[in-house]
Amino acid sequence: MLPGRKAYWGSLELHIFPDAPAVVGALAPDEPVILNRPHAAARAARFFVEKFPGKSLYAVKANPSPALLRTLWDSGITHYDVASIAEVRLVRDTLPDAVLCFMHPVKTAAAIAEAYKVHGVRTFSLDTQEELDKIVTATSDDAGNVPEDLSLCVRLRVSSDYSEISLAAKFGIDLADAAPLLQATRQVADCLGICFHVGSQAMTPFAYVQALERVRAAIVDASVTVDIVDVGGGFPSIYPGMQPPPLEDYFGAIHRAAESLPVSYSSELWCEPGRALCAEYNSLIVRVEKRRGKELYINDGAYGALFDAAHLGWRFPVKLLREGASESLRPFTFFGPTCDDLDHMDGPFELPCDVGAGDYIEIGMLGAYGAAMRTAFNGFGLSVPVQVGDEPMDSQYRGDREDPRRTDNVVSLR
Ligand SMILES: *Cc1c(COP(=O)(O)O)cnc(C)c1O
Repeated sequence: MLPGRKAYWGSLELHIFPDAPAVVGALAPDEPVILNRPHAAARAARFFVEKFPGKSLYAVKANPSPALLRTLWDSGITHYDVASIAEVRLVRDTLPDAVLCFMHPVKTAAAIAEAYKVHGVRTFSLDTQEELDKIVTATSDDAGNVPEDLSLCVRLRVSSDYSEISLAAKFGIDLADAAPLLQATRQVADCLGICFHVGSQAMTPFAYVQALERVRAAIVDASVTVDIVDVGGGFPSIYPGMQPPPLEDYFGAIHRAAESLPVSYSSELWCEPGRALCAEYNSLIVRVEKRRGKELYINDGAYGALFDAAHLGWRFPVKLLREGASESLRPFTFFGPTCDDLDHMDGPFELPCDVGAGDYIEIGMLGAYGAAMRTAFNGFGLSVPVQVGDEPMDSQYRGDREDPRRTDNVVSLR
């Protein structure tokens, strides 16, 4: 027999449900429920640890949940890409032995000093001479001695042409200006790195090959010895209408391009996956509160875990959690629960034509930039995570995945 609803919430963290229908059956939740799948995140982490031809840093911003951080650590991820002092503190508290790399190119002096002196951070990124000066000053001792243990990565601007979400406009020094900064950084760095970000959800390995060509040009121009080449994040996950090539193709292309760079023999290759390590970690159960034609009013939205669905038009896979529903699917759009017109998701989301108020829907692949983005705006967005044991709605890592290049859904590899 199930204990009362209140008592049940209290013990949820210890309970593993088989799947979303079991959660709905037991809880009939009034609020949206985040489902955690630690086995899926562990599998993604092991894949990167075993197959990426270098070191994989988890980009914490994609999903900073401490439970996820511990799962990744237990699965072999030892390095973490952090972007704010709050992320530095969080990861240090959660994983005392983790190696933290502060990869935001614009930091405050106080954040750099605390990261270096209190939390043992030695790796920082930068894209200007001012940031280099700031790092040197903030990490020097009281007598003004510059530390000899800094790893400094110069962020190069690269094209976002092959990615769904650009990260090209904001950060990164242009190739034409990079040589003096690389030379100045080499003067103070124990290890000199070059990093970049091709943009999130990069749909072809060519994005990395092209960026690494720019790295080659930067190294040749500056004539410096480079110890770390960091290809950043951007590794894709699978969503409706976005079927990327297998990750092995990305790793192979990166390996070949990096092997031919003029870097020191002992140099290291790094990557910073966010999305690819955590997209499969979460899904979300929402309830339909009202139907108006092809519009469903659900209880989560733009200010909840569905920011990308609302603001980027991102499509996530959906599944109606009711037996005996119609087999005929129709495209629906969603409204979120707040009073804001922007709280709207175009989709389209394919659901049985008889979906209606009171139905529960599972929305998949929300582990990256979904669960992490929830706010309490308008009094919505508070919910308790629940662990489930079934497979995520889609996976890059199951082994039985069909190569999308053999289907109609071809992504050109050039
Ligand atoms: C956001 C970010 C990442 C992670 O990007 P994904 O596309 O989620 O893999 C990695 N590195 C840096 C510097 C970032 O800003």
